[in-house]
Amino acid sequence: MKLIEEEKALSSPGAKIPYYPLAIARGKGAVVEDLDGRSYIDLLASAGAVNTGHCHPKVVQAIRDQAEKLILYTPVYMYQEPVVRLSRELVSIAPGPHPKRVFYGLCGSDANDGAIKMARVATGRPKIVSFIRSYHGSTFGAISLSAISLPMTRSIGPLLPEIFHVPYPDPYRPPVAGMTPDQVSDYCMEQIRIAFESSIPADEVAAFIIEPIQGDAGLIVPPVKFMEDLRALCDRHGILFISEEVQQGFGRTGKWFGIENFGVVPDAVVLGKAIASGLPLSAVVARAELMEGMEAPVHLFTAAGNPVCCEAGRATIEVIREEGLLEHASELGEHVLGRFREMQKRYAFIGDVRGIGLSIGVDLVTDRDTKERHRVAASKICYRAWEKGLLLSFFSGSVLRIQPPLVITRQEMDRALDIIEESMEEFERGRIPDSVLECVKGW
Ligand code: PMP
Repeated sequence: MKLIEEEKALSSPGAKIPYYPLAIARGKGAVVEDLDGRSYIDLLASAGAVNTGHCHPKVVQAIRDQAEKLILYTPVYMYQEPVVRLSRELVSIAPGPHPKRVFYGLCGSDANDGAIKMARVATGRPKIVSFIRSYHGSTFGAISLSAISLPMTRSIGPLLPEIFHVPYPDPYRPPVAGMTPDQVSDYCMEQIRIAFESSIPADEVAAFIIEPIQGDAGLIVPPVKFMEDLRALCDRHGILFISEEVQQGFGRTGKWFGIENFGVVPDAVVLGKAIASGLPLSAVVARAELMEGMEAPVHLFTAAGNPVCCEAGRATIEVIREEGLLEHASELGEHVLGRFREMQKRYAFIGDVRGIGLSIGVDLVTDRDTKERHRVAASKICYRAWEKGLLLSFFSGSVLRIQPPLVITRQEMDRALDIIEESMEEFERGRIPDSVLECVKGW
């Protein structure tokens, strides 16, 4: 297609991870349409950024109304109602009873940079600990926190100093075969304790920044015990526990924030993606006192928290509440897990099915014992599903990513699952040609 070739020629290859040649024209709810008028059910929600669905009428109306009044007068200099209205909501839905404050940005990445700054200022300590295989974004701070992909860091260094990575508990691929989830948790905690005794003095650590479910690593759901033990460790050493909710927040897991599934109260949450249903907005919401030492202009952006994005954010929260999307995500998520577990009985290449709410991963393997990632299966199944009218992608080379807009109906979801099942069947029978692999790069 001419448009695709032209974009390829004009744009930097460093900003594209292609799955299939789709030129998108419009979207409504959980369905998008391409330039030729073909419809697709969307299981990707624009990388988890449109939980209220594409162009939700209430969100569109809020954007339109605000755009007619004022698009931007930088909140850095002026006070305005949309900012206060959204902040009021954010401090009320963020976990924990304590007083909170908010700062805004434009994407998940810059929010993570802000979280690093806040933690250092608030504690007077330089070190930050994050997790191996985490993805936190593309600014220098967020890349330094991340540890998932060599092309992210190769040739661009040096990165931010004083950031350390420790293992994240992965119950499906444990450090030693046969470990129970709690043993995996204990193993990872032990690695942190060893690091604290040998190379990372605990009293120099400002914060742990942790994804409640490790998203781009392939939707790794940690054991509850790990989050509890990490919280206790933080309390013991005066370290902040920061939950990085850019991908798992805003109802994705059936709770407002992913960390709420683990019964642990964080000191701060980092928000992005779905917060404004697709408009560029991010935020950090933290215990009030953690922000009180931050002196301007330590973290501000001209257009961050602009009134149009804030109104979209407020409408997003309203839609999630009014349409019961948290409950819907939980109920539909259970149904989806059930259907994939049925498929797992038939297809040996489905190694694991996991997730919470509508944040579900289906891990494809060449062998259930070795758990070797089946990139070919993931690529071919996603490509065939696209040909059949479904937007599906994968993480970490092998994990089908099931993160639809939360407004998806049961009927749409069942149709999407039927398409995946048909595509799996065709893959099993060797009916998807190798030629599709040239197109799918994947993540
Ligand atoms: N954190 C997580 C957990 C993410 O999944 C992402 C995006 N994939 C980011 C941060 C970065 O967000 P953005 O691309 O909006 O900067």
